[in-house]
Amino acid sequence: MKIKAPAKINLTLDILGKLPNDYHELTTVYQAVDLYDELDLAENGAGDIKITSNSKQIPLDKNNIVYKAVELIRQRHSIKKGVDIHIEKNIPVAAGLAGGSTDGAATLKALNEMWELRLTDEMLREYAAELGMDVPFLMSGGTALGMRRGEKVRSLKNNLSLQIIIVTPEIAISTKEAYGSLDLAQVGQESEKTKRMIATLTDGNLTDVIDNLHNDFEKSIIPQHPVIGEIKGKMLELGAEGSLMSGSGPSVFGVWGNEEEAQGAAAELGKKYKQTFFVRTV
Ligand code: ATP
Repeated sequence: MKIKAPAKINLTLDILGKLPNDYHELTTVYQAVDLYDELDLAENGAGDIKITSNSKQIPLDKNNIVYKAVELIRQRHSIKKGVDIHIEKNIPVAAGLAGGSTDGAATLKALNEMWELRLTDEMLREYAAELGMDVPFLMSGGTALGMRRGEKVRSLKNNLSLQIIIVTPEIAISTKEAYGSLDLAQVGQESEKTKRMIATLTDGNLTDVIDNLHNDFEKSIIPQHPVIGEIKGKMLELGAEGSLMSGSGPSVFGVWGNEEEAQGAAAELGKKYKQTFFVRTV
């Protein structure tokens, strides 16, 4: 069985504070885009879980989120069957694009069909939340509001098809570093914009979408990683209506209103930044 797993960007991201379990509480408008990892699953007659990939940057053992997804389903349903999974990675790793989470979500969906488990949506959502914070959103993709740690999601109407360029600079920002850098007195102040973003996506108004783009991680991450600010500036120079860091970085996306201009900008950005992707919202 073959399945495509889309990347996500965050059109807004507010850190609201800390939950009693010490995790940060957030609200975010998630958007799936047509940059995909491709997973190929086949029965493994020996009952093993075997993972292969074109990428040298991801673990192929039990630390891979795909492996964790298989184990979770095998344990909960006392399944002895094995599976070979090849992950064709096109989404940059540890980039703020949820490349791991989307592979996990795709694995849950694929196994549900392949092993004819007939799991309810609610059960699948529960397993997804156990695997990671962005996994529940990636089970259905599209546009959605993420709440708490991102595990609680509500689908949103989006009447706009956006033309987006994503640039992933070749620097690493761990999730730990990103959360550790936050000044909690300085966050959550733009959450009104998230409310406006939700309304404006339904109206299909590009100008309002641009006005309400925001990400609480930018304030603390950009000063430490100036290349992110540099890419944002370059995107605006090349005609982007707006530009923002995705998730906890380092990927940056720009939104273009004009397709021809966007194509020209993608070619220009691609000369300087190897990981440049021209995508659309899905
Ligand atoms: P997020 O936006 O959710 O923070 P991310 O894009 O920053 O996600 P991922 O690409 O999901 O980060 O990778 C995070 C870590 O998970 C990496 O260090 C990687 O080694 C590990 N990992 C485990 N399985 C996978 C997988 N299938 N694909 C990518 N990374 C994986």
